[in-house]
Formats: sequence, C-alpha cells, structure tokens
Amino acid sequence: MRLRNIPGSREMIAENKWCIQEPTTLQGCWDELFKNNNPLHVEIGMGKGQFLMTLAKNNPHINYIGIEKYSSVLLRALQKMEEQPLENIKFIRMDAENITSVFAKQEVSRIYLNFSDPWPKDRHAKRRLTSKEFFSRYNQILKVDGHVEFKTDNESLFDFSLEQIALAKWNLDACTRDLHHDTDMIVGNIMTEYEQRFSAMGNPIMKLIASP
Ligand code: SAM
Repeated sequence: MRLRNIPGSREMIAENKWCIQEPTTLQGCWDELFKNNNPLHVEIGMGKGQFLMTLAKNNPHINYIGIEKYSSVLLRALQKMEEQPLENIKFIRMDAENITSVFAKQEVSRIYLNFSDPWPKDRHAKRRLTSKEFFSRYNQILKVDGHVEFKTDNESLFDFSLEQIALAKWNLDACTRDLHHDTDMIVGNIMTEYEQRFSAMGNPIMKLIASP
C-alpha cells in the first residue's frame, strides 16, 4: 500500500503515544510495556490497521503490535486510534527485515501477514514476507506453539509461499484457496482493507497457517 506522501507524517508519528519510537529497547520486555503477560500477536504490513484494530477490540486479553514500513500509511491507523483508543495495541514504523532486533526468542505467539507485497521480480524474492529468509526470522521470535497466518488473492505469491514453507521445513497446518467458501477456515475471519477490495472484485482469497 503506497499512499501519497503526507508532509510531516514522520514528525507526527514521532510524537504519537501509540507508536513505539525505539522498539529495540523493548526486546524481551514487551509485557512490561503492556503491564501484563498476555500473548503477543504481530501483524507485519498492517496498512491502515483495520484488521488489527478490530482484533484488538474483540480480544482485550491479547496484546497486538502492528508493523508498517511507510509513515503516510501508518498515520491513517494512528488517526483511527485517536477516535477509538485501545489499550492492547501499539504500532512500529519499521522494515520487518529487522524484526529479530525488536522481539526476543519465543516472545511472539502469532504473526499475521495480510496481502503482503508480491515483489514479482525473481531478484526481489527475498523481500517477500513469506520467503524462507523471513520464515527463518519468524523462527527466532515465535513461541514453540506459535504460528503464521497468511492471506492473499495473489496465486503466484501463494504458490511461492507454500514452496518456501516446505524449504524452511515448517508445517502447513491449514490451507485453502477459497477462504470465503471454506466453512471451517472462514470462522472468525476478519476482513482486511485489501481483502474487502479484492473479494468485491470476485477474486478468491487464499489463506494458509504454518508453524515452525
Ligand atoms: N495488510 C493490509 C491489508 O491487507 O489491507 C495492507 C496490504 S498492502 C498490499 C501491504 C502493506 O505492507 C503496505 O502497507 C506496505 O507498506 C507494507 N509492507 C510491505 N513490506 C513491508 C516490510 N518489509 N515491513 C513493513 N511493512 C511492509
């Protein structure tokens, strides 16, 4: 998701109370920030935050972290927080390549990847959030019983992700190529902004759940 650059968005984010400015200083002690030992769920590439903020509202006993690379996109989520503040969610503006410097070993229970950028050129494959390089990073921060949930409408990216899960020697716990018609996997589904847009166009939504 690329929005028009909003002048001053970096400065607004730097002063925002829901946005963590120096996340590496919290590695291993996120529970101190939230003042509880609740499980920590992370969404990478959260866009404007609709999905994660709905989850946070519905699940007050889970702590959520939304990671987004672009200030102008993250700013939209922070504006929504002004309207509807939630105690169990924080945001980080960063490139997820550095995720292992932000969370300690086994600190995270679940990672959500929704409609991740496809990076269609082969030479950019390592940048895909479902590449084996990223699964290796997730391996370092996920709990032993943790998992990754990934949704997309992009079939090539979905096929690539299944290959990478096998290469990373992860387990494929669940998989569907038509989530909205899968009576089991659709239970509790929260739509993301992209999911709403692409399913309205008639694109099937694919989902997988994988664990180390
Ligand atoms: N998840 C949202 C949804 O489903 O509506 C947004 C999907 S949008 C296509 C992908 C988002 O991931 C963009 O906002 C992009 O800036 C962000 N993103 C892509 N690569 C990232 C990375 N390495 N680290 C953090 N955010 C990233």
